[in-house]
Amino acid sequence: MAFGARILAVLAVAVAVFTPTASFARPPGTKAIVVLTYDDALPSQLSIAVPALNAAGLPGVFFLSNLKPEAVESWRTVAADGHELANHTLFHPCLSATFPADPRNTLEAYTPHSLLQEIAQANTLLTAIDGKMRHGYAMTCGQTVAGGQDYIEPLRQSGLVTYARSVSASSDDLRRDISSLDRMNVPAAGFAEDATAQDLIAFAEQARAGGGMAVFLFHGVGGDHIAVSEAAHAELLAWLAAHRDTIWTTTLQEAFDWIDATSVGSAASR
Ligand SMILES: [Zn+2]
Repeated sequence: MAFGARILAVLAVAVAVFTPTASFARPPGTKAIVVLTYDDALPSQLSIAVPALNAAGLPGVFFLSNLKPEAVESWRTVAADGHELANHTLFHPCLSATFPADPRNTLEAYTPHSLLQEIAQANTLLTAIDGKMRHGYAMTCGQTVAGGQDYIEPLRQSGLVTYARSVSASSDDLRRDISSLDRMNVPAAGFAEDATAQDLIAFAEQARAGGGMAVFLFHGVGGDHIAVSEAAHAELLAWLAAHRDTIWTTTLQEAFDWIDATSVGSAASR
């Protein structure tokens, strides 16, 4: 009996660690949140990713930068289809060591103030496209230093954006209640060009097991840079569509708005 009790105690600990508690912020019945995000306003997102999302009935989040005038109407349609448009600056500055760029267009040449000015103007452009007054943000190249100073706290204080998505996620992040996330450092996972459908699905399954949120970070889909294959992306969408009963695939803004609107979220944030 003592041995049995010890087994039960071990199981109880395991359950406490690996089973999400009822206070996890997400709709009843679901076990995890998945968010599909796409950076840099790439043509393959309009030609491949958006049609695939629409066919699956799933929303995506698109972080736009370096926007082309001929693409504006397409992005307006994407927003009207229920996808989220979000801020990724106007000119996509990164640190000079990241990739070759005009030195005047690197993060070294900015200050937190000048970058926030650019983010504000990118917001204005987004509002002209989608009509919304609130937008999220993704750090360019995941970097947070402009002119040698970290700009995340000034960005938080500015109230310009509702969240800031980063470019890395740990396994701990997939077990975290999203109501406890720092919204100015929302974790996300990128994938290599040879990622298989199984690699992508495994990330969502980790979140389902952990009870947290899996934020996918895509660039190209079946084309453009850092592209996952069209087939792997399609298989992931099919898997998510088949698991709607347990996985809530939504946008970052909807996930955070849902948390803020529920007593679960307000209790957790107290
Ligand atoms: Zn980018």
